[in-house]
Amino acid sequence: MTQQVVTRFAPSPTGFLHIGGARTALFNWLYARGRGGRFLLRIEDTDRARSTPEATQAILDGLAWLGLDHDGEAVSQAARADRHAEVAYQLLEAGEAYRCYATQEEIEAFRETARAEGRSTLYQSPWRDADPASHPEGAPHVIRIKAPREGTTVIADVVQGDVTIRNDQLDDMVLLRSDGSPVYMLAVAVDDHDMGVTHVIRGDDHLNNAARQMLIYQAMGWPLPTYAHIPLIHGPDGKKLSKRHGALGVAEYRDMGYPAAGMRNYLARLGWSHGDDEFFTDAQARKWFDITRIGKAPARLDFKKLENLCGQHIAATADAALLHELQGFLAVTGAPPLSDAKLALMERGMYCLKDRAKTFPELLDKAAFIITDRPIVPEEKAAAQLDNVSRRILIELTPQLQNATWSRDSLETVANGIAEAHGMKFGKLAGPLRAALAGRTATPSVFDMMLVLGRKETIARLTDAACDEG
Ligand code: GLU
Repeated sequence: MTQQVVTRFAPSPTGFLHIGGARTALFNWLYARGRGGRFLLRIEDTDRARSTPEATQAILDGLAWLGLDHDGEAVSQAARADRHAEVAYQLLEAGEAYRCYATQEEIEAFRETARAEGRSTLYQSPWRDADPASHPEGAPHVIRIKAPREGTTVIADVVQGDVTIRNDQLDDMVLLRSDGSPVYMLAVAVDDHDMGVTHVIRGDDHLNNAARQMLIYQAMGWPLPTYAHIPLIHGPDGKKLSKRHGALGVAEYRDMGYPAAGMRNYLARLGWSHGDDEFFTDAQARKWFDITRIGKAPARLDFKKLENLCGQHIAATADAALLHELQGFLAVTGAPPLSDAKLALMERGMYCLKDRAKTFPELLDKAAFIITDRPIVPEEKAAAQLDNVSRRILIELTPQLQNATWSRDSLETVANGIAEAHGMKFGKLAGPLRAALAGRTATPSVFDMMLVLGRKETIARLTDAACDEG
């Protein structure tokens, strides 16, 4: 039987959910979900000074918006401090760790001498091999791991390849501080082991930590997880991502009205590829995603590509689902909710609203003719379309619309007929009709608006415009 895949996302709650973090979460989620595995969430809240409940909430909100659901309860790393200490004592018991009574001054003095003699300044504690009988009873001490001094530690990384670290470059790191608190490295190794994590997929800024965490695994005799350290995301110019490149927080993308599916698709493509496929569904991503296809070079943000994919996802999303997501967007922007009547019109018109819209604000802009109530007050450019001639034509049009079948074909026939009767092309009539129906010059097609609004509302708007002497 093959082992069930277990991945995790382990953010430190010290700020918002960064798009780099979101991509890490997505890769872990895709890998687990595509293999019938489990995706776990661990909040690394051990830095009490910098961790805040607001940041934890922001991370949870960001993951929820992206649809990256985790299995089971989120684990608090800080709450597990006793368990981390327990492992340190187990290592002590097993002779894999030792109590070190060296003072800060002694460590400094060691380094001074080493520096003067041109040796490695990594601390080598005299307590490593000291007889326990010589231990100063009750004196302050830390617990250090007995790291191997010879040979090498090889991180068999799926993305980076074999990364070899000479053991003489790893010191006997502290596991428990003198106040009994566990260090971060111990916490991560113990938590990953206890949570049954099989694949550690995270940013390559943690690559060096892997070697240290492996020492703990090896000392405990635990099987190692598979490591995949992914390159960071860079800005479009290939430089380290920073605020000047644009939005960094996932919430900012949500607030700008990018659909979550488009964002997922885009983030999945940042550093991972499946042939030439750019657009794909979640189901395809789950099926295709593999850590072996993550690139070694940093991915570059490309906002055009993001927009493009978002447009494709809006077009591909079912109308009812899209409307639901749009309502979520209105809620985060603090806009008033749409009435049931307007929601019904939106759903009816979704087929034309979503055409070429790349974000929810763009979609809402097309929906202005639905959202705005009568009387429609035309914008300046639209108002210029409503001269006396066109007003007369609009008024002539209304009895014909009264009797027409409410279908695209017959509406086109009626409109073309009246244009012809006035010796003009329909195009000339489109401007005044847009102005009357939407008060704007850029709208969905006149016939789409009529079909969505229905006969009564269409005639009422044309009548309003025709009667308004300006
Ligand atoms: N908490 C770490 C971070 O926010 C991640 C640790 C890990 O994935 O092992 O970068």
